[in-house]
Amino acid sequence: MPVEIPGEPNLAVIGGRAFVSGTDYRALAERFRAGELNELLERAPFENVIFSEPQRLTQLSSRVEKAAQALSTSHAKEPIEASSELKIEQLVQPEALLAVPVAQARDDSFRAQTQPDLQGEVDRLRSELQHRADLAESLKHFLERISSNEPEQTYVAILTQAKSLLRAERASLMVLDEDENELVMKAAIGLSVPKEDVARARLGEGIAGRVAESGRPMIVANAVSIRPFVANEKRDYKTASFISYPISMRGRKIGVLNLTDKTTGEVFDDVDLSLLDLVGPQIAIALERAEWQDRAAQFQLMSITDPLTGLLNRRYLEERLTEELNRSLRYNYSMSCLMIDIDDFKKYNDLNGHQAGDDALKIAAHCLKTALRSADVACRYGGEEFCILLPQTSLTEAGVIAERMRQRVAETGFPYGKSQPLGVVSISVGISTFARDIDTAQKVIATADRALYSAKNRGKNRVEYYVENLTGGPANK
Ligand code: GH3
Ligand code: MG
Ligand code: MG
Repeated sequence: MPVEIPGEPNLAVIGGRAFVSGTDYRALAERFRAGELNELLERAPFENVIFSEPQRLTQLSSRVEKAAQALSTSHAKEPIEASSELKIEQLVQPEALLAVPVAQARDDSFRAQTQPDLQGEVDRLRSELQHRADLAESLKHFLERISSNEPEQTYVAILTQAKSLLRAERASLMVLDEDENELVMKAAIGLSVPKEDVARARLGEGIAGRVAESGRPMIVANAVSIRPFVANEKRDYKTASFISYPISMRGRKIGVLNLTDKTTGEVFDDVDLSLLDLVGPQIAIALERAEWQDRAAQFQLMSITDPLTGLLNRRYLEERLTEELNRSLRYNYSMSCLMIDIDDFKKYNDLNGHQAGDDALKIAAHCLKTALRSADVACRYGGEEFCILLPQTSLTEAGVIAERMRQRVAETGFPYGKSQPLGVVSISVGISTFARDIDTAQKVIATADRALYSAKNRGKNRVEYYVENLTGGPANK
């Protein structure tokens, strides 16, 4: 939109990366979604753009033109110094102008003035531009504000930011599980049920499922006849208006953002949709990142867990044990360690086969795990041996826990338990505790092993302790 300053068209309100209508912009966003424009993957095309009705743009340009004319008239009469606040450049920073839908246009007040109050108009324009520049700025840094190293935080930040951008009271974010073709609720604000209780939505089913599948946003002004986004969510929406918006990147479906209830009580409209079009690609980038972080965390987890039992592995135990020992040394905390071995397990294998043996290992691991507190560390040490680290736990407390584990295993009905020599699948447990002379990982494990050996010697299916006697030598209690 050109603006002429007496005769000379040397200003433009709109240029460069501007879109004069939401439709134009959406056409671009659509191409982006469809996987074209790959080279524009980064957010460059989505910065600095805000929508304005064509007629509002006209109003704005005419206001700027009038102000500019008035300015150049006063220029002619009385040259303004370079330092003046009324410099034309300040009136027409193209980015700021682009960045905003024109608010309450004040054309009328402007026209009504016979002697235009130029300073007043400039101030008004400037404050309006500032407001818009702020909004543009906040959109520019949207990606920064929704990015975190923690996927969970990213999900929540996306919701918080989108919610405040659209002034919605409730919001939820669903991400596509590509293996299952289902949307999983990752975060929700103002949901009536915990997000974990929300059923997954199959792609193509329900509002969110359909939006994700089609890649087309759904905006509903009055949703009386439409069911909630998620099966078990109660309906008590403030207004019946919502937006369900697909998040995708390079044609790949990533998730759906749902926003409900405008704080203003109004309904969602095309401007809201346009705002989402602006931040959608940034949300997609953040979600893709979060997904990689999740995956990295899983790989990390895989490297420290035992695949058969899901317990931590020996490598992890050894590192952790050293760490805990240092802590115990520093703060004089107690710390105990349990070595556990399944009794007569060779027989179980020989009689029932290797697969039955594997199954029994899983059951035993489960028994151990469920007998522990959350801070305790359960590991598969090797074969049918387990090692449990009990931070800040005395020998007596460790004894109680060990006994609980022993009982739990003995009372659990293993498939072929009855054919074991003791009539049940059982474990023997050896306990040792951090002490003056038991202060390295190696020593802690060796002494627990010794106690375990003693438990085996004394008939199995029992718990034994290793304690230092007064002269420093080993003695079994
Ligand atoms: P004890 O009561 O003295 O501990 O006797 P045991 O038979 O349990 O002891 P031993 O160490 O001689 O045998 C351990 C057996 O555990 C050997 C092997 O058959 C079995 N085992 C070890 N790891 C696995 C495993 O991953 N899967 C299966 N199925 N069996 C395993
Ligand atoms: Mg063994
Ligand atoms: Mg054994």
